[in-house]
Amino acid sequence: MNSFVLIAAVVHFAVVVPVGRLQDRFQPVKTVPVKKADCPECLSCVPAAATRCAHCTTEPAGRPGFPAQALQTR
Ligand SMILES: [Zn+2]
Repeated sequence: MNSFVLIAAVVHFAVVVPVGRLQDRFQPVKTVPVKKADCPECLSCVPAAATRCAHCTTEPAGRPGFPAQALQTR
């Protein structure tokens, strides 16, 4: 039991922690602001570029707050 905890701690600090630091260094989290609008049917907050609401499957394109281009491409 003691050897298991010791080996687990060594693996954690020798492998998991350095790999996490390397991932943070080379793949920083990118936050891109996404314009959102309220779905006209269920009032959920969905991206304005969405062609279909993820909550109620309504097609909000062309309605107020949503671009009309999505309707023309279909
Ligand atoms: Zn909806």
